[in-house]
Amino acid sequence: MTIPLTRPLLPPLEDFVPYLEQVWASGMLTNAGAMHQALENALKQHLGISHLALTSNGTLALMLALRALGISGEVITTPYSFVATAHSLLWSGITPVFVDIDPVTLNLDPAKIEAAITPRTSAIMPVHCYGTPCDAAAIDSIARNHGLKVIYDAAHAFGVEDEGGSILRHGDMSIISFHATKVFNTFEGGAVVCPDPEIATQIARLRNFGFVDETTVSCVGINAKLNEVSAAFGLLQLQHVESALEQRGRVAAHYRQQLRGIKGVRCLPISVGTRPNHAYFPILLDEDFPLTRDALYHSFREREIMVRRYFYPLISAFPMYADFPSASAENLPVANTISSQVLCLPIFPNMENAEIDTITTFIREASRR
Ligand SMILES: *Cc1c(COP(=O)(O)O)cnc(C)c1O
Repeated sequence: MTIPLTRPLLPPLEDFVPYLEQVWASGMLTNAGAMHQALENALKQHLGISHLALTSNGTLALMLALRALGISGEVITTPYSFVATAHSLLWSGITPVFVDIDPVTLNLDPAKIEAAITPRTSAIMPVHCYGTPCDAAAIDSIARNHGLKVIYDAAHAFGVEDEGGSILRHGDMSIISFHATKVFNTFEGGAVVCPDPEIATQIARLRNFGFVDETTVSCVGINAKLNEVSAAFGLLQLQHVESALEQRGRVAAHYRQQLRGIKGVRCLPISVGTRPNHAYFPILLDEDFPLTRDALYHSFREREIMVRRYFYPLISAFPMYADFPSASAENLPVANTISSQVLCLPIFPNMENAEIDTITTFIREASRR
């Protein structure tokens, strides 16, 4: 049985046709047309946030966020993420400073941030890894005390809520990705979310070459616009995303039930008071499991079950980062351990129990070898 890691949320094709007819009739394929406008409004309402600017992907959203806030020098971030997190910094001429992660949430450990602050530090870029909320209260208080900005990489966190609502409200800004493999997608796409309307306007200018109006260019902008067909697809998909989140919850619950009691296998805890989005289903294999993580990974792959080692290697291990002092293994013991233990199992909305059982039975049998 071939099982992909993920399957994009694809509503019935015929439901997309009326949207395309509207785009065709407008003759407007990009440049903040009607679909773009409608999707920005719909997302603000759906997520309960005040300002949001769509972008052509999550990586450019990170780069625009850094630019709009004038970040330079050093930025404290996590090595345990997708490489785009640190790439957005290095691409912008900023030095990433890696800080270790918390062994339970797998997010940037707030207790280790202050020791990494130097006179050159201008911001913190934490990641809500797998959609698990960061300790925003602790991070924001450190940032306030040291005059630092906070940009959350919330690429995994569509629909995640804590006691106060969407976690996208935290910090000076959050960015989100609408890539095809994410919980909500526009093929490619993303957005910057921020509480400050002036910063949101600045993001909208930066994504469109710096244009303020037909004849005024206010800054060195770039092209980071989302096209109308992608925006239309987002509008259609938004109608299905809540039921997709419910489905993901069902899959995750079935996994947890089937994995219970298997020696050496740990699932991540769900933080209390959080509405999770089950974007990923990571497990951690410790010394009690008879196979190494890589051995289990390869035997799944041989059976065409597309598990992934997210996040291995750590970002800090890639050649363009490995020589930074903060990238040393001694500085990042928890991240290095977790990175050697983690395996992300397939999860997508209409995953069948039989597919889940194939995977969990295989793990259970491997645990007895
Ligand atoms: C997917 C992802 C990104 C990049 O988003 P794109 O839309 O693919 O550019 C950034 N950070 C994290 C943590 C991601 O998972």
